[in-house]
Amino acid sequence: MDLRLKLEPVKCIACGVCEMVCSMHRDSVLTPMTSSIILHIEDKANYFGLVLKTKSEGLVLGRPEGASSGQQASGSGGPGAKPILLREACDLCDGHPKCAKICPTKCITVVD
Ligand code: SF4
Ligand code: SF4
Repeated sequence: MDLRLKLEPVKCIACGVCEMVCSMHRDSVLTPMTSSIILHIEDKANYFGLVLKTKSEGLVLGRPEGASSGQQASGSGGPGAKPILLREACDLCDGHPKCAKICPTKCITVVD
């Protein structure tokens, strides 16, 4: 089994629930500061995507233009938040990805 997460940021409404559930899985706290998935929001109006730190592909960027991997990314999480490169990589919640389950618009889906 080779699960991975597929990101479709066009469907994202920037609710932040995926960051919260990821931090809950990792640290048992509700904060976007250490999650393996972050919202990537730029100053352009209505431009946001998702960044996932993976073990196999490095950073995976989901942008409205399409997905790519391996690039540096700025992140969310507010002052004091860990840069995503210093965060733990996604462990796919031990085979049951919680962010994909909770995302209200299904922009995170599990593929294998
Ligand atoms: S699958 Fe789990 S560890 Fe990976 S980003 Fe989603 S919530 Fe975080
Ligand atoms: S839970 Fe889904 S809609 Fe909400 S921010 Fe995360 S990816 Fe976007």
